[in-house]
Amino acid sequence: MEEFGGFPVTREEIFSMLEEKRKEGFGHVTLTGGEPTLYPKFWEVAAFAKKIGYRVFVITNGSALGNPEYAEKLLPNIDELCLSIHGPNLDVHDKITRVKGSFDKMLSAIDQVSVYGKLKFVMVNHVVTRLNVAFLPDSLKLLAKKGAIHQFLISNVTPHGGGGARYGELAVPHQEIIEHLPALDAVAKKSGITLRFYGIPVCLLGAYWRYSNDLFYAPRTTIARARLENGAVGWHFEDSPLPYREKFYPEVCGSCVLKGYRCGGIYWDYTQLFGEEELKPFTAASLRRHPKETVVAS
Ligand code: SF4
Repeated sequence: MEEFGGFPVTREEIFSMLEEKRKEGFGHVTLTGGEPTLYPKFWEVAAFAKKIGYRVFVITNGSALGNPEYAEKLLPNIDELCLSIHGPNLDVHDKITRVKGSFDKMLSAIDQVSVYGKLKFVMVNHVVTRLNVAFLPDSLKLLAKKGAIHQFLISNVTPHGGGGARYGELAVPHQEIIEHLPALDAVAKKSGITLRFYGIPVCLLGAYWRYSNDLFYAPRTTIARARLENGAVGWHFEDSPLPYREKFYPEVCGSCVLKGYRCGGIYWDYTQLFGEEELKPFTAASLRRHPKETVVAS
């Protein structure tokens, strides 16, 4: 915030960028941050995007959306929503956000979404760290009780930004996440919530490999207000045609039929901490070994 003091991105700049990209053929926009609802009258940005034909997706921590007046302004102007939940109760969630009362605000946000009832897609992103991995099934059970949620995305810590600086103390061995899979799957099936995993190699998910978010990856362009290489503040563009951000493919991936478009590989920083683990390349035949489990790309 300090770095960008004096360089706020104006409403006009945002509108103009939205228009430009819409003309280029973009049809889906994710409005994110930091926390996008901190932007003054953020609902007007969402409304403009919707008016010019985008399908509008917002990622928020729920701090503003729990307020009924705010929800009334924002929700009719968006199509899809992602909320971030860090644990099944106040103790775990607020400890991770380091914001007292954030868990209650998140629950209020879910209630507002439920009351509105017209969003096409509502997901929860749950970043797994050493502080909350033990509570994974309980976090999903909480959402199952609340209703209104279509998808639960379990994200491994990404070695990027704050997650990069503290990767060693936050990252969890894959196995500690994977061991919860049967319990998570049971709750998901019972509640009708779709499970997805991000940041774990597809082959390590075993029988649950079809839950990998990599399989549903859509090429994207990220546009951010940033400090550019020449020191000026301006728009930064990043094209991500494939799901391998911050990741790489160890040699063993060479023969895998999912390498590239369908699997992003493994985080380099993860391998430095925990090793490459036993990656198991898929062959066309091994994919067919799960006759009821078809890879479907969105
Ligand atoms: S072997 Fe490599 S490319 Fe294949 S699923 Fe595993 S990590 Fe992905």
